[in-house]
Amino acid sequence: MTRREAELDPVVREVAPSRSGDDLAHDASLRPTSLDDFVGQRELVEHLRIVLGSARSRNQVADHLLFAGPPGLGKTSLAGIVAGEMGAGLRITSGPVLSRPGDLAALVTDLREGDVLFIDEIHRLNRVVEEVLYPVMEDRRLDVMIGRGPSARSIRLELPPFTLVAATTRVGLVAGPLRDRFGFVGQLDLYEVEELTAIVARSAEKLGISLTGSAASVIASRSRGTPRIANRLLRRVRDVAAMDSVAVITEGLAAAALMKFGVDEAGLDKLDRRLLGLLCGQFAGSPVGLLTLAHACGEEPSTIEEAYEPHLLREGYLVRSPRGRLATEKAYRHVGVTPPGGGLV
Ligand code: ADP
Repeated sequence: MTRREAELDPVVREVAPSRSGDDLAHDASLRPTSLDDFVGQRELVEHLRIVLGSARSRNQVADHLLFAGPPGLGKTSLAGIVAGEMGAGLRITSGPVLSRPGDLAALVTDLREGDVLFIDEIHRLNRVVEEVLYPVMEDRRLDVMIGRGPSARSIRLELPPFTLVAATTRVGLVAGPLRDRFGFVGQLDLYEVEELTAIVARSAEKLGISLTGSAASVIASRSRGTPRIANRLLRRVRDVAAMDSVAVITEGLAAAALMKFGVDEAGLDKLDRRLLGLLCGQFAGSPVGLLTLAHACGEEPSTIEEAYEPHLLREGYLVRSPRGRLATEKAYRHVGVTPPGGGLV
């Protein structure tokens, strides 16, 4: 096993505890490897091109970068692209893995000049480690305590120039002083259907799957604005096509296969429908808090807030009020429930 594989193996699993093994393996094989390869997020990509191009022309490492946005939109991929574009090595870890200052110290003292250090879920970094990270980011200086009690002393280590790339699904939870230490903060938004169609077509080509343009766009339109979901649905449609011994995936086959896996015409899956069912049924007409909703459908509040709500909000199925979540008329129509009088948004 190479040094890089050894590093990536345990941490990547930590980076994404909620992803299945299937997802992880394919995420890696389908990742875009250059900015030209990265579909969508045009403004962000443009800004990144400038930041990286400028660093390259000055023969310096790029500023520290923070990417924010819902899961599956390409933050990890961008970290790899930054390393690739800068011709640098990539080290990957995540906030929850760095539980003690020593974990961070071990990682940063092993960096080589120019390396990119990627910390996923930076908002979950514990406060003590965060304090140690500040001088590491700002002055490339690591202060470590050695020994205990009266003989304890602090030694200062100089670190080589490196770029920290961090990702978060909750930019609001990243402490102000930490956010301020990034030279560039890029917000990733949910993708348009045309962009996802291009991603599906590209992934199909990489995986050796034949599908028509309209089949790619059916998959894209049901992917909740998220490339990772688009790639996952593509694989499920491929499975159905393989079982039926179909050589080329058509629009009809894609739609039927997605239905089989519980993804409806609007691209909503079982949990989406369960959420809307609760808001339009049990809680009809009254605002519901996130915790109540999470308990009622047996999911983590963070999963609902980060992975489900962005799409439901964007598509107008629910609204957030200071008192909680409310279903819209579109949601009542979708689940086929008559809305209570006056309770509509
Ligand atoms: P995040 O780190 O934001 O959760 P990832 O970078 O792991 O997301 O992306 C998940 C998968 O989605 C990647 O493996 C890649 O296949 C695909 N993907 C994400 N963004 C893009 C993009 N802009 N173009 C092409 N594929 C993408």
